[in-house]
Amino acid sequence: MSALALVGTAAPARVAVGPLLRVDLAAVATNTRRLAQAATGGLMAVVKADGFGHGAVDVARTALAHGATWLGVTGLAEAWPLRDAGLRAPLLSWLNPVDADWPTALRRGIDVAVPSRAHLDAVVLAARCSGLTARVHLHLDCGLARDGAEPAAWPGLCRAARGAERAGHVRVVGLMGHLPCADADAVEARLLNAPGRARFAWGLARAREAGLRPAHRHLAATSATLTDPLAHHTMSRVGAGLVGIDPSGSLAPQAGLAGALELSAPVVEVRAVRAGTGVGYGHAHVTTRATHLALVPVGYADGLPRSASGQAMVLLGGRRRPVVGRISMDQLVVDVGDGGDAGLPEPGDRALLMGAGHRGEPTVADWAAWSGMLPHEIVTGLGPRLPREVTR
Ligand SMILES: *Cc1c(COP(=O)(O)O)cnc(C)c1O
Repeated sequence: MSALALVGTAAPARVAVGPLLRVDLAAVATNTRRLAQAATGGLMAVVKADGFGHGAVDVARTALAHGATWLGVTGLAEAWPLRDAGLRAPLLSWLNPVDADWPTALRRGIDVAVPSRAHLDAVVLAARCSGLTARVHLHLDCGLARDGAEPAAWPGLCRAARGAERAGHVRVVGLMGHLPCADADAVEARLLNAPGRARFAWGLARAREAGLRPAHRHLAATSATLTDPLAHHTMSRVGAGLVGIDPSGSLAPQAGLAGALELSAPVVEVRAVRAGTGVGYGHAHVTTRATHLALVPVGYADGLPRSASGQAMVLLGGRRRPVVGRISMDQLVVDVGDGGDAGLPEPGDRALLMGAGHRGEPTVADWAAWSGMLPHEIVTGLGPRLPREVTR
């Protein structure tokens, strides 16, 4: 057959042959409903870092359909694609340099957080030049010593914001803070959050004294939404929980959140090796018996942490099997022994590297534990090289 004869031939049905990252939006929907139920106030879906690696627009759309009414992102650059995708929900961006593109933010109806006088002045200038009123959320540092105004600067910031409000340049629609302790269980959380909650209450009181009446007062992220109702106020900003991460690590499994991604890859090759075979770079692993090694073509360039080498497992042939030797940039090696009851895997069989855990496969939390990382780091690290498939 000539090459030309192939033109117009129907493409074969698409089947996964290489590594594949599947995003399960039904899990995001379930998680959103759980979080909306736990929150005393409303729910803002935080879709920063591309929706914690799950796709910002998909996660945003799903969350808005299942109980969230607001969207939140870090920098303005993360806000534009949400508006481009046609999402019209209230949208807050909270970490921007003083010379950010405020005019475009105002024009596109994006609320902005204001952590300092310099930010306020820049936003006011943009509002005056464009003839628009900026919707701002004053941001008070509640104990992290990072983003947000220091307490010493807060009363002055509130008064200046009130002045700008009277002049018609801004409307202070919100006050925000963020809590420093996210990994506490429900009992610890109330104790550990007490200083942050008190700081926020103090900030609200100063804002009221300055004449501000912000409708939205938000302090809790996923952790406090699940563990500390005293921190809820009028809205919770949740990100990690949407994609199944329980930062407190304290939820009962039945009350838990569902993992929303699955990473699988095919076995490329299986080989028999003798005892004493060094595997991978540096021979960090040497086989202690005759065994079989399966090669799987994903590695740290795809976001699997190399620091999980020596601990990680994958589900292959219905069983968890150890990853042996160092995880390389593009590949890892699994010791499958003699295959056991299931027999040896064959090239093309798929290894499940991580998933929700229902079939015994490792979870995001397992990879985090193996690598000494946070689940957040695992999900946001999964690389753009991985082909993605979204199930709804
Ligand atoms: C990331 C972030 C959130 C969401 O936190 P989760 O723990 O992921 O729910 C809320 N607020 C701020 C300021 C954040 O940076």
